[in-house]
Amino acid sequence: ATDYGMDKALQQLGLKDVNHGTSTGSTWYPGGEEIASYSPVDGALIGKVTTTTKEEYDTVIKTAQEAFKTFRAMPAPQRGEIVRQFGNKLRELKEPLGKLVSYEMGKSLQEGYGEVQEMIDICDFAVGLSRQLNGQVIPSERPGHVMREQWHSLGIVGIISAFNFPVAVWSWNTALAWVCGDVCVWKASEKAPLCSVACQNIIAEILKENDLPEGISCIINGDYTVGEWMTKDTRIPLISATGSTRMGRIVGKTVAERFGKSLLELGGNNAIIITPTADLKVVVPGAVFGAVGTCGQRCTSTRRLIIHESVYDKVRDAIVGAYDQIVIGNPLDEKNHVGPLIDKDAVDMYLNAIEKAKEEGGNVLVEGGVLEGEGYESGCYVKPAIIEAENTYEIVQHETFAPILYLMKYSGDVENAIEIQNGVAQGLSSAIMTNEMKEAERFLSFAGSDCGIANVNIGTSGAEIGGAFGGEKETGGGRESGSDAWKVYMRRQTNTVNYSDELPLAQGIKFDL
Ligand code: NAD
Repeated sequence: ATDYGMDKALQQLGLKDVNHGTSTGSTWYPGGEEIASYSPVDGALIGKVTTTTKEEYDTVIKTAQEAFKTFRAMPAPQRGEIVRQFGNKLRELKEPLGKLVSYEMGKSLQEGYGEVQEMIDICDFAVGLSRQLNGQVIPSERPGHVMREQWHSLGIVGIISAFNFPVAVWSWNTALAWVCGDVCVWKASEKAPLCSVACQNIIAEILKENDLPEGISCIINGDYTVGEWMTKDTRIPLISATGSTRMGRIVGKTVAERFGKSLLELGGNNAIIITPTADLKVVVPGAVFGAVGTCGQRCTSTRRLIIHESVYDKVRDAIVGAYDQIVIGNPLDEKNHVGPLIDKDAVDMYLNAIEKAKEEGGNVLVEGGVLEGEGYESGCYVKPAIIEAENTYEIVQHETFAPILYLMKYSGDVENAIEIQNGVAQGLSSAIMTNEMKEAERFLSFAGSDCGIANVNIGTSGAEIGGAFGGEKETGGGRESGSDAWKVYMRRQTNTVNYSDELPLAQGIKFDL
């Protein structure tokens, strides 16, 4: 871990000799069983954290409940000031935190920095938002009455996050939740636990400097069993869960059973439609970065290319040619494009998916496989693969979290391509490459893409924080980040005030006493 300045980064983030993973702010609890975090980059042990015990969990929730009483009473712009300080601290620590993301998760260093930049951006957004948590005044049908709508803080937001965005997803939730007056309890992925400890160290310092109570930001640690304590807990009004559809199906049901709110950000099966007028200069980088960036481990990664038959050969050759240029290796080395998968289980899933695609009749254009030898000792480095396939194959219908790109043809109108694009269970991100205005508008219309994100002449992968982020169908329906996504972190209240001396009833009802 001495290469690429990792030791220094760990030091700066307060992660040297860390062996705890439960905190209510500046207070850390010893915890139970240890979870070791190994880097997929070189297989080295980065550090250890401990699993939250049930007793500690209850302390965390009680502390958070107490903190909420103080925090919700603080004016929203003052809460925004806390988030502003947090964003500034992230600016100072962008380099070490970005490095840790890259080293613990395996994404390229540029993407690690990009993830921290996203945290900074959402903080800026949230600071502005802290003065715009506006309700509205609604005309009343009754004389001498006024109606209005207010937004109140909700309480504890339970955050469950996936390994692939080990810091950004938390901040998308927390930056908004905090300006809304909520307090947060975060269970990060057990595959990237040190990232959560680093984030907690940063915010705990800010809270302490501002003399704010323990419990505004808490972390708990462990696998799904610890997550289940939260999903079943009626003290937590909102669960925001990011991860697989398999997880979301369980979490959604559990939270609904107790009438809690859930915000689900689940798997995608994202496609780019490539029409006859598509510009190859845009198509190739868009599709290739979409498919191989983060080693295919983004929820918005491009999984399918739906190419018009008239340009199929040309597009296929250009994409296959571009794959020849991809350099795979240590993601901390900026000359490499693609780093490792998260762990060996992910490698097995990738290999199985390729086998399955072949069995179903897929034609492999770019062979996959696991890389061996110097620099690849962790066993997690794989080659991005391209397979010609049909949309109806079972494996194509499934999100494999790895760099496998399926190519398929369409003929006739763009409607045929849209039907293929929508013909999967997931509905996160989608794109069309076209210079035909009518095709683009049809793709964006009510009869077009059924995804939460629909792009024209950019790929499926990556999003700006200003827009609401999330998707439909098995992607879970939740929206995070920009636009009016903040509303899910608050409760809406409708008020009617009578300033007349009479009591007229609504709908003209007469009730004479
Ligand atoms: P995962 O579903 O295995 O785990 C995600 C989190 O859920 C982890 O913290 C895990 O401990 C927790 N968890 C699992 N089962 C649970 C249960 N029953 N109760 C409570 N918590 C539970 O996902 P992963 O492998 O870490 O991440 C990859 C997946 O995440 C992909 O499907 C990807 O598309 C999805 N993802 C979606 C988005 C989005 O915004 N839509 C963003 C990032 C990742």
